[in-house]
Amino acid sequence: MTNHLFSLVRDGVPDPAKTVIETPEGRRYSYADLIARSGAYAAALQAAGVRPGDRVAVQVEKSAEVIFLYLGVVRAGAAFLPLNTAYTPAEIGYFLGDAEPTIFVCDPGRREALVQAAAGIREVWTLDAAGTGSAAEAADRHETAFADVPRGPDDLAAILYTSGTTGRSKGAMLTHDNLASNARTLVDVWRFTEDDVLIHALPVFHTHGLFVATNTVLASGGTMLFLPRLDPKLILSLMPRATALMGVPTFYTRLLKEPGLTQEAARGMRLFVSGSAPLLAETHREWQARTGHAILERYGMTETNMSTSNPYTGDRVAGTVGFPLLGVSLRVVDPETGAALGPDAVGMIEVKGPNVFKGYWRMPEKTEAEFRPDGFFITGDLGKVDARGYVHIVGRGKDLIISGGFNVYPKEVETEIDALPGVVESAVIGLAHPDFGEAVTAVVVGGTNAPDEAGIVTALEGRLARFKCPKRVLFVDELPRNTMGKVQKNLLREAHAGLYRA
Ligand code: ATP
Ligand code: MG
Repeated sequence: MTNHLFSLVRDGVPDPAKTVIETPEGRRYSYADLIARSGAYAAALQAAGVRPGDRVAVQVEKSAEVIFLYLGVVRAGAAFLPLNTAYTPAEIGYFLGDAEPTIFVCDPGRREALVQAAAGIREVWTLDAAGTGSAAEAADRHETAFADVPRGPDDLAAILYTSGTTGRSKGAMLTHDNLASNARTLVDVWRFTEDDVLIHALPVFHTHGLFVATNTVLASGGTMLFLPRLDPKLILSLMPRATALMGVPTFYTRLLKEPGLTQEAARGMRLFVSGSAPLLAETHREWQARTGHAILERYGMTETNMSTSNPYTGDRVAGTVGFPLLGVSLRVVDPETGAALGPDAVGMIEVKGPNVFKGYWRMPEKTEAEFRPDGFFITGDLGKVDARGYVHIVGRGKDLIISGGFNVYPKEVETEIDALPGVVESAVIGLAHPDFGEAVTAVVVGGTNAPDEAGIVTALEGRLARFKCPKRVLFVDELPRNTMGKVQKNLLREAHAGLYRA
């Protein structure tokens, strides 16, 4: 079996007439359409001068056609480079300058605004949410069978920029083998088959929607119901026809607000997966009580694809991300010395395996700094492995607070605050403080009946060591989140940087 990414589709196709993507408006695309259409894109790209090793950048709304384009780029031997649809022309200018794609595909409505950002790129094509535009027209002109450009397992299939939660996004170079092997593993562990119908409401410019969700379904020969965005009512209405949902924690908290979410509504579903950000144990419990299903939480990142998953059969433990996937080595080390730590000790999570990327695009020093000599990738996430082998993510290394010389893990404090009656959610950050170096500071979204600042501090003093208790509690209406539902603590730190200054 070769690990060309497109072999996933070729090996997975059950019956070419079977539907691979269906939209809420009732448009259906078969596996035969997908093969023909991705081949047409590949031929059009080749005719436009795209060569193996080139990049094709896209910033377009989600549609079935984007998936065909993605596979067309890969079949032409180039690397697919999707960009967040929320990025401004200035941001796009940075990414295009960094990636130097041969072709850039954008929404027709934004073409004008992006002219300057795309200066120097050989061709700018367009594709809109309906799947029409000059890119689609170019493919229309090349509707012939296409022979895939051969690629080795280490050749790039995609460059995916990280979410930019902790700083400027970095381009992660992902190989055919990284993506194909991870998809095959997920098909196995999550038991995907051609009978599966996945509710796909994630964006397709991020690892979660493009690789975890899409590649897994393609590799199993299943079907995707393609929703443009998270729409809780629409998701509920589709559940009777579907078998699985993959989402970020926000999906689950929003769905829990729907009175229609019942055991009956979720009866035909077999799997609910969560990732990209921590799922609150409370959400896990509520979901199980309401639907009878235990959400399966897993852990990954742009650079590593999926590294761990809770088990399909067996305990899906709330607050954990389960076990390392087959073939993935995961260890927890002392961040300073690199020495491996035993069960329950918190340290830096490091990962090695076929899932791990090749390095950061045009950042050789950064790449070297993030890999250990024995090949383990330093994830930047802190965590521990418990006595049963379950991996716990404690938070990002960059969010660790050192107050008066003591380490404070924000998640431990957030868990206590979130458990207080009336509190909706919280984010705990460290802010510069003249005496403590950093002061533990809580930013809280309070509902009705939430305790005030003094009430929260007093409640915590009974539960946490004094150095972990917040020096100040700030109340906000909502926490800043990026498109993947991740809390942007850097924005909170910037906004309140001067809080303890005299
Ligand atoms: P950047 O690297 O640019 O700062 P980012 O790390 O948010 O952005 P992604 O690759 O999209 O970019 O996200 C990966 C990160 O998401 C992981 O390193 C981890 O911190 C977090 N994450 C993913 N899944 C989980 C999970 N189940 N629980 C907790 N955190 C998770
Ligand atoms: Mg990251």
